[in-house]
This record gives sequence, C-alpha cells and structure tokens, in this order.
Amino acid sequence: MSAELIIDLAQLRTNVAAVRERMAPAEVLVVIKDDAYAQGVEPIVQAAYEAGARWFGGMDLPSSLRARRTAGEDARVLAWMTVSAPEAAEALEGGLELGVGDVDYLERVATVADDTGIVARVHLKIDTGLHRNGVRPEHWDNFCRRAYALERAGCLRVVGIWSHIAEASDAEDDVSRAEFDRAVDVAKSVGLEPEVRHLAASAAAWHRPEFRYDLTRIGAFCFGIRSEGGPDISEIAPIATLVARVSHVSADDVTIAIGSADGLASSLAGRSHVSTPVGPRGIISVETFETRIEGWRDANVDDVVIVFGPGTRGEMTPTDVGEAIGTVGEEPLLRVSPLVPRRYVP
Ligand SMILES: *Cc1c(COP(=O)(O)O)cnc(C)c1O
Repeated sequence: MSAELIIDLAQLRTNVAAVRERMAPAEVLVVIKDDAYAQGVEPIVQAAYEAGARWFGGMDLPSSLRARRTAGEDARVLAWMTVSAPEAAEALEGGLELGVGDVDYLERVATVADDTGIVARVHLKIDTGLHRNGVRPEHWDNFCRRAYALERAGCLRVVGIWSHIAEASDAEDDVSRAEFDRAVDVAKSVGLEPEVRHLAASAAAWHRPEFRYDLTRIGAFCFGIRSEGGPDISEIAPIATLVARVSHVSADDVTIAIGSADGLASSLAGRSHVSTPVGPRGIISVETFETRIEGWRDANVDDVVIVFGPGTRGEMTPTDVGEAIGTVGEEPLLRVSPLVPRRYVP
C-alpha cells in the first residue's frame, strides 16, 4: 500500500457553502481547472453542485467538458483558454460558454458557431493590467462593436464581461477595477447587454465586496487553499490529505513510500515536515520512490504519516508546503501524480 490522496467531500461542501454565503448576492463560479486542481472533476463538481453551485469553469476544455457532463443542463460552464476551431466546435457542442480575449479568437468562435449552427455564448475579456490574456483597453471599443455586429448576425451572444486581476496589492487592483468599470460602460454603450460581470478570484472576492459584481470565480478557497502569505480563513479548510506509509525503519531514520515520482518536490528536504503518529518529523531527503524522514522510537512499517492536510493533526497544509519551497498552495496538489490513488470521503 503506497501513498493516497484522501479528499473530504463534506469539507468541500462546507467550503463552497461558506464561499457562496460570503459572496451573495453575487454568484460563485467554482473553478475546476486542471482536473479540479488534481482532485478529480466529477466528484468535486457533484459535491459543489450539492452545495448549491451552478457555475463552473476552467481553462482547459477537457476539465470543463467533464464538469458540464457531471453538473448537467441547469449548470453553466465557462472555458477560458483560447482554443483551435475544432476544439471550439467541441466546446459549443458540449454546451460550454467561452471566454474570449482577442479579436482573432472572436472571429474564430463566430465562424465555428456559424458552421455548427450553435449560438456561441461568450464572455468578453478586457486586459485590466495583468497582461496575460484579454483585449487591451485601446482596442476594447472596436472589439465590442465587432462582437455586437456578430451578435446581431445571430452567431453569438455576449453573456459576460470579465477580467482577471493580480491580487498583489489593493492599489493595483483598484486601478484594474476602474478599468473594468469603463470596459463594462463601453460594452453597454455599443449595445451589448451582458448578464454577468466578473472580475475577482478567491482573495479579492473574499475580502473586498466591491470586487464581486455578479459572479466571482473561486478556485483556491473552495478547495480550502489559503493564499500564499495570506491569513487563515476560519470558515474554510483544505479538503485534501496526502498520506504515505512507512516502508522501512532503521536505527537513524524512517523511510516512507512516497517520492518525487509521486509528486513530492525534492526541494522539500530540510524545509518541510510530515506528521507521524508521535508528532512532526522533518524530511531529510526525497528520492524517486521514497522519502527519508527523522525517525522515532517504536516506528513500524505501515505506520501512516501525513504529508499535508487540513492541519488538524500538526501537519502542514498545502499552502504551508508551497511556502516552504517558495510557491503557492495549488502547486503541491497539482504535483501529486495521477498514479497516486484518490479516495473520496463522502
Ligand atoms: C485559476 C483562476 C481563478 C481562480 O483563482 P483562485 O485565486 O484560485 O480563486 C479565477 N480566474 C481565473 C481566470 C483563473 O485562471
């Protein structure tokens, strides 16, 4: 028996309910990109749906299509990665809404909509300063006019206006928000009638009500991942626990059956600890298939140690592990190999 990623769906429902309550009357789009942060789209979407979520979204089409199939017709699913024409066709046939952040893509989606006979529901994206994707403010006016023409022609329907912000400083986010408001005004002035405006992800949406608009896109907080360097939020907790078993006990140390091939960063050596039956023990070295940790008296093969989890048994949380190696809390989860079995606790 090797490592296991245990996923607490009751905790997910608690998190989603807490996030939904906090954001109301704004809606919550549960972000399920990258196979729901490596925790499995289908069970995550099912549980979030049970907790009331009706919007889902992600970058990649496969995760988004799976979310749509799981959540069904009364849920709305947005995919925001710019994709090829055949992929866009697959997305429309699968009932997805598309995030559109450049004019070439707008034309491509319109052509695909024409070809498939499906009216594309699109969310137009303004670049409010992050420079990752999105239409620059100086091109926004023309972009909206073109979208309106395509809407009148019956190819598409502009259902949303959106952007993504850095969440690095309140001042920068305020500048982005002013830009966003201008973009919405421009869209309306050319005749568009978006149903939803959405700007913020977990941190800004949680702490700053004026960033919530009609819809918030929440990834990290639904999964209980606190922001890097950010405060603990008492209403939410990590849903994933990564456990491994002791495979060998020597006089000096203990070996556990999990290694870099399973997704542990080798840089955790000397920087992180695991939680054992007798308390925390430091990680000495991470090899391909196993990891050496500080030993303890009476250690036994098959003892369970916790690599990360909600933090209730002295273990690191995913964000603690990320911080130990200079990254965000999503990363330790995304690294967990698909070969590590997922076990769902309902
Ligand atoms: C990942 C992502 C989110 C979710 O961000 P969190 O900080 O995890 O809530 C929201 N919007 C976009 C565009 C994203 O890519």
